[in-house]
This record gives sequence, structure tokens and C-alpha cells, in this order.
Amino acid sequence: MNRDLLGRHRAVLPDWLALYYEDPLELTHGEGRHVWDAAGNKYLDFFGGILTTMTAHALPEVAKAVAEQAGRLLHSSTLYLNRPMVELAERVAQVSGIPDARVFFTTSGTEANDTALLLATTYRRSNTLLAMRNSYHGRSFSTVGITGNSGWSPTSLSPLQTLYVHGGVRTRGPYAHLDDRAFTDACVADLKDLLGHSRPPAALIAEPVQGVGGFTSPPDGLYAAFREVLRERGVLWISDEVQTGWGRTGDHFWGWQAHARSGPPDLVTFAKGIGNGMSIGGVIARAEIMNCLDAQSISTFGGTQVTMAAGLANLNHLLEHDLQGNARRVGGLLLERLRAVGAQSPYVREVRGRGLMIGIELTRPGTDEADPRAAAAVLEEARAGGLLLGKGGGHDTSTLRIAPPLSLTVAEAEEGAAVLERVLRNL
Ligand code: PMP
Repeated sequence: MNRDLLGRHRAVLPDWLALYYEDPLELTHGEGRHVWDAAGNKYLDFFGGILTTMTAHALPEVAKAVAEQAGRLLHSSTLYLNRPMVELAERVAQVSGIPDARVFFTTSGTEANDTALLLATTYRRSNTLLAMRNSYHGRSFSTVGITGNSGWSPTSLSPLQTLYVHGGVRTRGPYAHLDDRAFTDACVADLKDLLGHSRPPAALIAEPVQGVGGFTSPPDGLYAAFREVLRERGVLWISDEVQTGWGRTGDHFWGWQAHARSGPPDLVTFAKGIGNGMSIGGVIARAEIMNCLDAQSISTFGGTQVTMAAGLANLNHLLEHDLQGNARRVGGLLLERLRAVGAQSPYVREVRGRGLMIGIELTRPGTDEADPRAAAAVLEEARAGGLLLGKGGGHDTSTLRIAPPLSLTVAEAEEGAAVLERVLRNL
């Protein structure tokens, strides 16, 4: 491994810039669902979907679109008409499920959420926000102020007034023993209680499936019940689809559609996979909300031509090859197979997921205590076996996260599951 590069990394980059693995990886190339490191080792990538590779590594259509656009015009400003930006915005609006949709492009998920906060607080003239416990929404000054997961929320000095709502996780804590119905009722009562004691909030921001928080979903109906309470009080709904968008959850194109009883959200934020490695984020909102800002605005790098060309090629590939359907089919098989694997291991508390977004929560055998050491050990051993995984969880990282590129094949799913089976058996 490249000790020299690691030393240089540590000498010049922040200590808090997290690196996976005791012997960190330097990836040098990728193809399909595989990546290679600097020493020439090949890995099946079960985490690339979160690290932004939505469809496949080095997708030829994306590589071609980037090269052609970069060779023609490598420039960025929203002060001039930008054909690739208009074309991607049209496509995103078409698949958004939001009536009269307008799209604003940013360069990251953090910035997308920042923009959504700017819009919601301006539209509602309130700087009070509701967010979920255990949530993750980004790294900027304002988005750490709506991030409920303490492991990722270093400051309490945010200018926002944030109230954290129950409903994110219940594997431990006071609601752990409740069934779905009782849990939903308790969370709705908690929300009403918060609303009764605060200034009217501008919005509630929520991830349909908590990503960094360990791939946990609220019970069916919980977000819809929240929505009804909030709508009566004029509180907007922001769905953070940075991890759940673009068909990842299999049954739905957007995560919010699993909770859609009361209609689409007021604002949707997206990022990560849409650029297949190029930096694209964005916000979708009804025109009335998007246009509430009273000053002019540009975004120098939001919607840059080369990233928009990549996004368009990637989204077209996703739709033409029905990768959402693939996520449903292959994700369903993988979930079933991993549940069988999990049933054999005393460390596995739960295997859960939707589509190609699967979490394996580990606890110390015979207890209900999170086991971050076991999760770290599985990550190391899986890597030694040629499989890359992610990890996440509540306030401790004890959930293995699986989010491969959406083109994962059945044979690759089986190959990865076999590695995990071996690693968990030997733990
Ligand atoms: N929202 C969610 C749900 C995320 O998972 C992330 C990234 N992990 C972000 C926002 C922030 O996105 P970015 O890292 O592109 O700023």
C-alpha cells in the first residue's frame, strides 16, 4: 500500500476527513461493478452507489459525453444559456413527480439542502426547522444544524432553530419495544407536542430511508401521518433524496413515493449518483416555492456544462435499461440471501432494506448493544476477500451498508453474499 501517499494525506488534510480501512485504499480505475486499487487488486464494489456511481463504473456513455463536452466547451456560468443544463432540468422535472416543477442545480448534496433551507425559510418567513433524530443532511454550517446524528454534527451553533422529531430509528431507546402502530402514534404525538411549543416551523426535512444513519426506514404510514399534521399547519415537507433517489429503492423512483399517501413533497433534494461521479446536486420545487427569492441569483458551478452532459447520459442510461427494475429484482434476491446468511450469525441483529439499499445491523452476540468493532472487522475482512462495503448507523457505526451500482447482476450479488457469508462465519 502507498504509505507515502497516506503520510502526505495526513500531513496536509484535516484529521476529521474520514478514511475507510486501517490500510486505506487508493482506487485507480473501475469498470461496471468493479474497481481496482493501486496495487492491482480487484474488488466487487458493494458501496459505489453511495460513493456516487449510480449506474456503473466508467459507463462508456458518460465517459463519451464528458470527453465530448470538455473538448467543445469547458466553462461554467449560469449567466448564459446552457443547453445541457436545460435538457437535464427538463428530464429531471419530467421524472420528478412534482407538479409545475422547477429545478436548480448545485454541486453537492450539502449545497442542495442548503438551498432547500433558504427556499423554505424564505417562503414561510421562519427560521425554525423540524428534522429527524439520527438524520444526516450535509457538512455546511446550516446543514450540520439539521443533522440529528451526533457523530456527524459537530456544532450546536447553527443559526437555525431545529427541533428533532422521533421516527428515525427505534432499535434502541424508549420506543424500542413498540410495534409499528404504537410507534407511529407515539411519534405523531411527539410531533404535535413539539408544534404546540414552538414558533411555526418552515419545514420538516427527512430522508425516506436514513442513509448515514444505517438504512433504517420509518414504518409505512408514519411520514404520511406526519404530513397530514404538518400540512394543516402550513409546514413544508423537504424530502432529502440524496441517497434514495433515481430508483435505488427498487419499488419506487423516489424514496418519498413509498410514503406518498398525501401527495408529493414540497421540495426534493438530490445529488450523489445522478452524475455517476461528476458533482451534481440540486433542488426540485413547485414554481411558486422555487421563485420566492426576491434577489437575483447565479450558481457559478451549479449546472456546469460538462457535469450536465454526464448527468443526462447517465439518467438516459438508467431509464433505457430499467435499472430501477434491476434494483428491485436483484435487490430483492440479495436481501433474501443476506437474511439467510444473517440468520446463521450471532452478530446479526437485523438485515433490512429496499431495492439496492441494504443494511446489516450488528450487535454484540447475546445483547442488544451496537458492535462497531465487529462492523469494522467485517469491512476489513470483506476487503481482503475482494468486496467493498460501507458502514453507518445511529450514534455508533454498527450497520454494514450495501449500495452497489444499480446495474449489479444476479451473479455478482451472489458473489458478494458468499464473501459476506464467509466473513460473518469466521468473525
Ligand atoms: N443528504 C444525505 C441524505 C446524504 O447521505 C448526504 C451525503 N452522505 C448529503 C445530504 C450530503 O451530500 P454531499 O456529501 O454531496 O454534500
